[in-house]
Amino acid sequence: MVTRLYTHPIFLEHITPPGHPERPDRLRAIERVLDDEAFAALDRAEAPGGDEATILYAHPQEFVERVRSAIPETGITRVDADTTASPKSWQAAITAIGAANAAVDDVYRGRADNVFVAARPPGHHAEKTTAMGFCLFNTAAIAARYAQRQHQAERVAIVDWDVHHGNGTQDIFWDDPSVLYCSTHQMPLYPGTGAVSETGAGNIVNAPLAPQTGSEVFRDAFLSRILPALDNFAPDLIIISAGFDAHHRDPLAEINLTEDDFDWATGQLMQRAGRHSDNRLVSLLEGGYDLQGLAFSVAAHVGRLMKG
Ligand SMILES: [Zn+2]
Repeated sequence: MVTRLYTHPIFLEHITPPGHPERPDRLRAIERVLDDEAFAALDRAEAPGGDEATILYAHPQEFVERVRSAIPETGITRVDADTTASPKSWQAAITAIGAANAAVDDVYRGRADNVFVAARPPGHHAEKTTAMGFCLFNTAAIAARYAQRQHQAERVAIVDWDVHHGNGTQDIFWDDPSVLYCSTHQMPLYPGTGAVSETGAGNIVNAPLAPQTGSEVFRDAFLSRILPALDNFAPDLIIISAGFDAHHRDPLAEINLTEDDFDWATGQLMQRAGRHSDNRLVSLLEGGYDLQGLAFSVAAHVGRLMKG
């Protein structure tokens, strides 16, 4: 397996207020753990600048301008109750989109089998017309549509194992059966969406997990709901909304996964990518707020991507 890693220094310059869990140190922790010689074979690349026009694949122009006008010249502004912007946030968000779209190019052009994008801000809470939950634009949704428009992908699956439901991704693809959205998430928890009954055009598969559950319940949700849905859908590309806040150390939720569970889930999705998608798999960092839990989980995830 050739695994590419995209990062960029601009991702450290999206500054959040003191004490905010979604902070630049998250990426520093990931960088440190991937510095180990076990990851020497990673194909490291600097994320390219993004094309602003691709934001329109998932959001209307009016919303793009609203986010642009919220970017301050100095200091930090509030976009919603827990989402903020600093002077470099626009460039960080655009570069995250550029990296995700480049990752799609890479797996389609055979430059990599799979790609992990270590970027921030995250994206899965951003709805068509609402920035929220630390997210400005929905990077995963844009990348899915990019694969359809630029590489003629007919069916794209987004698997979201962040502990929070990806309300934004669900909103964007609610009536679009060409994209399958599958999510495991704690319920009840922010943002409050993600019930089993929310099925969109039959393309939404929500597998809520009760607080204080762990490995067994998570793996059962994968085996009984997510993986059968993927096999049935036969995607041309799998995108992972890879949040690591379901780790037992994470302060924002009460699901008790270990890094072994992320290793396992990665392996399961790689098997499906092998079966349906010519191995094409793109993984985008979402949440994960305990630095040690995040670092160990990313190491397990990327290690599995490299090993196959
Ligand atoms: Zn999350």
